[in-house]
Amino acid sequence: MTTLGRLVLVWLVCAGLASCATVPAGPDPQIERDAIAARMLADIEVLASDEFGGRKPGTPGGEKTISYIIERMQAIGLQSGTNDPGSAWRAPVELLTSKPLDHTITVRTSNGAGQLPLDKSAAFSLSSRVLIDGVEVVFIGDGSRQIPDTEITGRIVVMLDSIGDPAAADAIFTSNPAAVLRVVPDEAVLGKLRTFYSRERLLLADAAPDNLNAIVTAQAFADALPEGEWDRLTASASQTDFRFEVLEATIAIDVHSERREFTSSNVIGQISGQLPGSGAVLLLAHWDHFGECAPGTPDPICNGAVDNASGVALMLELAARLKAQGPFDRDIYFLATSAEEAGLLGAKSFVDAPSIPLDSIVAAFNFDSVAVAPAGGSVGFVGEGRTALDAVVQEAVRASGVELGNREFAESFLRRHDGWALLEAGVPSVLLSTAFSSEIVLGPYLATDYHRPSDETEGLQMGGAVDDLLLHEALVIRTASTAAYPASDIPASQ
Ligand SMILES: [Zn+2]
Repeated sequence: MTTLGRLVLVWLVCAGLASCATVPAGPDPQIERDAIAARMLADIEVLASDEFGGRKPGTPGGEKTISYIIERMQAIGLQSGTNDPGSAWRAPVELLTSKPLDHTITVRTSNGAGQLPLDKSAAFSLSSRVLIDGVEVVFIGDGSRQIPDTEITGRIVVMLDSIGDPAAADAIFTSNPAAVLRVVPDEAVLGKLRTFYSRERLLLADAAPDNLNAIVTAQAFADALPEGEWDRLTASASQTDFRFEVLEATIAIDVHSERREFTSSNVIGQISGQLPGSGAVLLLAHWDHFGECAPGTPDPICNGAVDNASGVALMLELAARLKAQGPFDRDIYFLATSAEEAGLLGAKSFVDAPSIPLDSIVAAFNFDSVAVAPAGGSVGFVGEGRTALDAVVQEAVRASGVELGNREFAESFLRRHDGWALLEAGVPSVLLSTAFSSEIVLGPYLATDYHRPSDETEGLQMGGAVDDLLLHEALVIRTASTAAYPASDIPASQ
């Protein structure tokens, strides 16, 4: 570390902290690091306790988590960052889950009507009930041919799916069929798809597709058609000039599901800047985890101490330190997101209804699973080369006396963290952490505790978490200053 770097660090850790005044020679950096680690660990211990139930959105543990983060933000002296007088601190995230209950599929041909055996067929929809009846049926072979939308829209599309690929019908659904009925080789492939569609999924209510997916084994479908018809169709589909064939049959599908809609929350706090209109720096960390993930076992709760109680704790500690040193030129926002584990849903919800214009955000830093590496390690840079932040990040990393980690390894997480939802929307967003520096550092955690009940507070590596905190403190102070980080790409209207 350079002498200048050390001076800056001493100033950073000292400013606003009463304890510094009683130590005339300046604080021992190790004592200060230990104090930071202890404060973060205190938050992690609460958030990852069994009382918080694994912080699953839509559960009492999820609610406790939201309340706790709001209380902590209030105690730190932040203001609400929702910019919605009707909903302080909480920005709603509308979610739904759906669990399949039962189904029937009836095939009508010139020979009469027959119901497909329940153990050789399946049907799934996110709605509570879907009933379609008397709908025309078009057979498209394995789905590899170009077929005009007009042949698909409003019809039941029958397609061959030899391997049970959940994504096999995605392209067809863009043409709005009434349903897609996959014909699979046997009950093993049917079982694979049934498992995929039966798992409980959390989705953004606005963005949930209303696709009706039905599946049947080849034998059961052949039995429902006139003698020899299925053999004729599959033989015809193997011809090079085959495109599609409208069947002389109609199909009725009736599906029931248990659908639950509920509102979770992103929690948003802020420190107002001194220069209105100069933009904002956004810090974010997801608060959610998997809840009770191993029911019926002695340790049923996925507590998510590393993932991501540690990231929330870092964000809160950084908020307290910035509050003590600020205000800065720009606003600083603190966003604790819901439903990251279900597919970055809270972050996507923020992008859909941001509490500040997205183009006013000059930098976004995400904290996810930070307590993995020991102190002094190199820094994984997820999002390198994709924003205007590269230079300022490289400088801050250099000033802290370490190096950037493995670039390819960091890149492999680009789409797997909340910052991706922001980056996709054009917000300069990165994730910097000692945890993501290399396979050697993160690999053992991924192989043992990641998304398992054993992700608990024992054995957390707070050294890397403190490194991450100090690096971001320097970065936020820099990017929140209009002189140090002009960010000339902010629209003039801001
Ligand atoms: Zn996770």
